[in-house]
Amino acid sequence: MTWYRHRRLPDDVPTTLEEVREDTRRVLGTDFGMHDARWLSRFHNDERQVPHYRQGRVLLAGDAAHTHSPAGGQGMNVGLQDAFNLGWKLAATVRGRADDALLDSYEAERHPVGRRVVHLTGVLTRIVLLRTAPLRALLGATVMRVGPVADTVAGALSGIAIRYPAGPGAHPSAGARAPDLPLSGDTMPGRLYEALRTGRFVLLATEPLEAYAREEEAYDADVHRVAEERAAAVPPLVLVRPDGYIAWATEQPDPTRRGHELVAALEHWCGRRARHAATSAS
Ligand SMILES: Cc1cc2nc3c(=O)[nH]c(=O)nc-3n(C[C@H](O)[C@H](O)[C@H](O)COP(=O)(O)OP(=O)(O)OC[C@H]3O[C@@H](n4cnc5c(N)ncnc54)[C@H](O)[C@@H]3O)c2cc1C
Repeated sequence: MTWYRHRRLPDDVPTTLEEVREDTRRVLGTDFGMHDARWLSRFHNDERQVPHYRQGRVLLAGDAAHTHSPAGGQGMNVGLQDAFNLGWKLAATVRGRADDALLDSYEAERHPVGRRVVHLTGVLTRIVLLRTAPLRALLGATVMRVGPVADTVAGALSGIAIRYPAGPGAHPSAGARAPDLPLSGDTMPGRLYEALRTGRFVLLATEPLEAYAREEEAYDADVHRVAEERAAAVPPLVLVRPDGYIAWATEQPDPTRRGHELVAALEHWCGRRARHAATSAS
C-alpha cells in the first residue's frame, strides 16, 4: 500500500504500476524492478459504524456494520468474529432453543468491539501518516516496545483480549475467551478448540465425566474432562459457548449445590437436546 501526501486523486482515477513504482522509489530508493502487476486498486479510508447491528430480522456484520482504515489488518478478522458470534445465536433462535433476546446480545457484545477497532485503527493510521518523522518514530516505538502499551495493542489487534460483559455475580472468567485447554483421554478431541468444531456448547469438568452423564444426555452440550496437568488451574465446571467464550463457570465446592447451579446454567444457555432419533423412529 502506498500513499503520497502531495498526490491525492479521486477513487475513480485508474491506478498505474508507475505510480506505485514511483512511491516505492521515493521511500526505499529502489522499486525492486517490479513489473506485470496482476491487480491494482485505489482505496480511501472510511471510518464509520452503524448505530445498531440489529433491526428486527435484519442483522449486520462485517464491513456492512463497521468500516475503517486497513491499518492493523482488522476488517476481515473482526467481520469473521461478528459472524462467529452471531451464527450459533441465530441457529439456537431458529431452532426454538433460545429466546429472541439472545439475538440482542449480538449487538451488545459486538458493537463495542467494532467501536474500539474503528478507534484503534484510526489512531494507528494517524501515527503512520504523521508529518513529523521523529514524532512518528517515537509514537511507533511506544506502540511496539513499551510493555503495557504494546500488550494492549497486541491484545486488541489479535482479538485475544476481547471480553464480553457478563451479568452481575458471574464468575470472573465469564465473558472471556476460553484458552485451548488440553482434554483428557487418548481419543479425539484432544483439545478444547477441536471439541468446539461441532458448533455446540462444551461443558468442561475437572472430575470424572460419569458424574455428568445425565446432563450430557439431557442438554445440548458435549461434556469433556480437562487434562490432569491443567485441571488445578481451571474451575471445576466451565461452560464454553460454541464461539469459544466462557458462558458460565463455578468454583462451588459443595457437589449438590454445584449440580443445581449447573442445571440452571444449562437450562439458561443450552436448552434441551433435540430427540431427532426418537422423533424419526416414531
Ligand atoms: C487495502 C486494504 C487492505 C486490507 N487488509 C486487511 C487485512 O490485512 N486483514 C483484515 O482482516 N482485513 C483487511 N482489510 C479489510 C477487509 O478487506 C474487509 O474488512 C473485508 O473484506 C470485509 O468483508 P465483508 O464480507 O464484510 O464485506 P465485503 O468484502 O465488502 O463483501 C461484501 C460483498 O457483498 C457484495 N454486495 C454488495 N452489495 C450487494 C447487493 N446489493 N447484492 C448482492 N451482493 C452485494 C459485494 O460485491 C461484496 O462481494 C483490508 C481492506 C483494504 C481496503
